[in-house]
Order: sequence, then structure tokens, then C-alpha cells
Amino acid sequence: LAVQANFYQVQLDGIGDASSESQGNLPQPQLLCTRRTRLKKIGQQVMVGDRVLVEEPDWEGGRGAIAQVFPRTTELSRPPVANASNILLVFALEEPSLDVYQLSRFLIKAESTGLDVSLCLNKRDLISADRLRWWEQRLQGWGYQPAFMSVYTGEGLAELRSVLSHQMTVVAGPSGVGKSSLINQLIPNLDLRVGEVSGKLGRGRHTTRHVELFELPDGGLLADTPGFNQPQMDSTPQELATYFPEARARLAQGNCQFSNCLHRDEPNCIVRGDWERYEHYRDFLEKAIAYEEQLNQQSDPD
Ligand code: GDP
Ligand code: ZN
Repeated sequence: LAVQANFYQVQLDGIGDASSESQGNLPQPQLLCTRRTRLKKIGQQVMVGDRVLVEEPDWEGGRGAIAQVFPRTTELSRPPVANASNILLVFALEEPSLDVYQLSRFLIKAESTGLDVSLCLNKRDLISADRLRWWEQRLQGWGYQPAFMSVYTGEGLAELRSVLSHQMTVVAGPSGVGKSSLINQLIPNLDLRVGEVSGKLGRGRHTTRHVELFELPDGGLLADTPGFNQPQMDSTPQELATYFPEARARLAQGNCQFSNCLHRDEPNCIVRGDWERYEHYRDFLEKAIAYEEQLNQQSDPD
């Protein structure tokens, strides 16, 4: 499904049996729909990825009206995407060389959505097997099981395809790592592209973002979301640790002495310790604290 101004492009996946008048001829695979006034009145938005009920389809004209939005399994607000179950974070091993701090920043942002996070490292053709093993061990230490691939040689693509089938995946990562090349490789015929979206974000703001939804040949949907390529540090200080698998593992073993522990210099903290990204954690924590103070000042009338 795609959204453009007040029109919604709806991909059909089933026809109700209430009216079977159109059974003879195959319906259009996509309908351009409006949103019923009733939905507007109750403030029901329609997002990319939504599953909807279309009433009174006009098969010849390819038009219809959205009467109902089915409950969402997940919902991302920036960028707006409904029903995704997975985030595929793509980084390159070289060209540009892998910046671990930037990778951490993307991982935290991805973890904060609550979706499953898959880490995919592209351009493996540019590094040696030894170097690859070194990265693998290092990232396993972070709590991730990275998939290595090369769009150029095709290595790792089959494994990736099976991860992506039968679910909706949001693709994220910095520019230059090979995301467009990957999408082109996965979808040789870009006519399968489901649509393009341009939407207003938030009330009164006129930021325009595009979310593109691609249908994979063997099922599965890919949402390409530019909004995810410059992640902001907008987590609260309290929740930040939960976005680090290393810290989550420690917190699963027990508790810090203080329930509001920020894992800095507090006594009897079980998170602070000898793990590689603890320095990243401290750094992002300072940013999260600064961000929170800034928000508090804005809401403070004085
Ligand atoms: P995006 O900005 O993430 O969409 O990246 P692009 O798909 O535009 O790719 C950036 C550059 O990396 C292009 O020059 C690609 O040809 C190159 N590239 C993509 N995949 C690979 C790969 O597997 N190996 C190598 N060596 N280069 C690649
Ligand atoms: Zn602690």
C-alpha cells in the first residue's frame, strides 16, 4: 500500500464473498482509493504497510474507498510504516570503512523501534577472510550475528532472501553502503515496485519524507525509508541501556542496586563493566541526557 496526498494505492490480496459480481474477470491488482469520511472523523490515519478493507470497488476505473484499517502489529512513526516486523541494517565493511560508532548509533535507533534487528555487512569482496572473521567475532561480542554479503559477487544473497521472505522489512543504513544496489539485485524487475509515498509528518509540519515499498519476487515486502538514514539520539536516558544487547544480557542476570540506575558511577551497578561498547553507551547517555534537558526547557514556560 502506498499513500499519496489523499489517495491510497491498495494492493489486493483477497476479495470478500459478499459481492461476487466480479468473479468472472480478474480484478485489477491495485486500486486507487480514498478514505471514507467516517475514518477521517475518528482520526484514523492510513499508513504505508496498513492492511485495509476496501468497499465498493470500481474494477474498471481501478478505484475504491477504504472503509476500515485492520489493527497494526507494529507501527513506526518516523518514517510512518505499519506492520513491519524486521529492520535490516545494512553497512559496508569497506568503502566506506566500517565506522563502529556510527554502527552503534544505527543499532540503537533500530533497537528502539522494538522490531527484530538483522545486521547485514555488504562488500565482503573487499576484505580478507581473516578480517571477516575478526569482524564477526567483534560483532558477536556486541550481541549480534551479522550476515556477510556482497552484491557484486552474489555471496550471501540467498541467505538474505530467505530472511526477507514472507515479512515486511524496513531497510536502513548510511548512504554508499549498497542499499540501492541490493534492492535492485533482489528485485530485478522494478515494475514490482508497489508504490511511493509522500506524506506530511505531524501536525502543521511540512517535512516531506518518502517511503517506498517493494514487493519481493518470493513474497515479502521491503520498505526503503530515507528517514531512517540519519538517526537522531532521541531515546530517554532510562531506556538507553535496553537498546544494547550487552546491557540487556547483564540486566537479565540481576538488578542494579538502584532501580533508576543510569549505569555510570552508581554503587553495585551490574551493567557498568568490561564490554567493548560501554564507552559508546556512556557517550550516547550524555547525548540522551542533553536531549531530555533540552525538551524540558522547551516545555518550561520560564
Ligand atoms: P546506497 O547509497 O546505500 O544505496 O549505496 P549504492 O547502492 O548506491 O552503492 C554505493 C556504491 O557501492 C556503488 O558504487 C556500488 O556499485 C558499490 N557497491 C554496492 N555493493 C557492492 C559490493 O558488494 N561490493 C563492492 N565492492 N561495491 C559495492
Ligand atoms: Zn546500573
